[in-house]
Amino acid sequence: MEALRQLKDFTDDELLAWLAAHGQPSYRGRQIHEWLYRHWAVSFDEMLNLPKALRQELAAEFLPFALVPAETLQAVDGTRKFLFTLADGERIETVLIPADERQTVCISTQVGCAVRCAFCASGGTGLIRDLVPAEIVDQVIYACHELGTRVNNVVVMGMGEPLLNLENLVQALEWVCGPEGLGVGVRHVTISTSGIVPGILRLAELGRQWELALSLHATSDVKRARLIPGPTRYPLAEILAACDTHRERTGRMTTFEYVLLAEVNDSAADMAELANLARAHRAKINLIACNPGSSRYRAPDAAAVKRCLQDLTRNGARATLRQSKGEDIRAACGQLRRRQDGTGDVSEEG
Ligand code: SF4
Repeated sequence: MEALRQLKDFTDDELLAWLAAHGQPSYRGRQIHEWLYRHWAVSFDEMLNLPKALRQELAAEFLPFALVPAETLQAVDGTRKFLFTLADGERIETVLIPADERQTVCISTQVGCAVRCAFCASGGTGLIRDLVPAEIVDQVIYACHELGTRVNNVVVMGMGEPLLNLENLVQALEWVCGPEGLGVGVRHVTISTSGIVPGILRLAELGRQWELALSLHATSDVKRARLIPGPTRYPLAEILAACDTHRERTGRMTTFEYVLLAEVNDSAADMAELANLARAHRAKINLIACNPGSSRYRAPDAAAVKRCLQDLTRNGARATLRQSKGEDIRAACGQLRRRQDGTGDVSEEG
């Protein structure tokens, strides 16, 4: 039997041609589009203003939604983590962080990850495959579907290195941000990278106003190599030069993401150098205390974290501390998937 096609991969013209070939008026195309992007439909059964026979014909050829929800965990702080199964049986995670004003969804772009950061659950298995655009955008759609309202903040910080799947991500973000798509503001999308130089330069060339976050984690190539040991790591000077180009082309300030690891990268000297880099590259700093887990790394205690933040501001850097969310449901990326796979548990972000 032929595999079903992702409906979102169909262009408007292709959909209109398909509808005409099935004896349907063209306004059905508009109705279907609205169900997908305005009502966040995850099945044809929800498309109640379409005739039942048409819904059946569509279901025989297309998938309106690329993900099969497998498990949802809810943390005491309201964070929700979704585990999805894909058509080929692979699994990905998405995290929804609702707050009073800001509904944030953290999405994945790959199954596994080639970057293999030493403190990350997703990197442990290496890269399995890229997600296709429909699998990326449908994580945002599912979050809207579950919330009953549109999310207004999208962070591309889940499983995978986004800039190693850039063209599929860009297509998905066009659907997330486009006026005919979900309509999320471009400035409310943040793409996080471990520092893939060609990808940063490509983003600069595209000139979209998406925020760029660099997972810096260490201020020297030597120290960084211990935390990001894989072959995808670029020299820091090249990465920072690419970030400068991105800022100049887009006008958007880079954020340096810095996971604090006790006795690894949290000394006063580390903070002084981090502040220097941030000032030199006009970046702001987001400190993250690593999630507790069973890896060889641990977070500094609260007093040490506070001291790091004070060191940065005293050295003239703009720095904030990102609060860890959903610790009781293992919200750091890759952790739930690995637990379900029985591949153990390491700690920290993706
Ligand atoms: S932290 Fe991000 S880039 Fe590093 S291995 Fe994990 S998913 Fe990949």
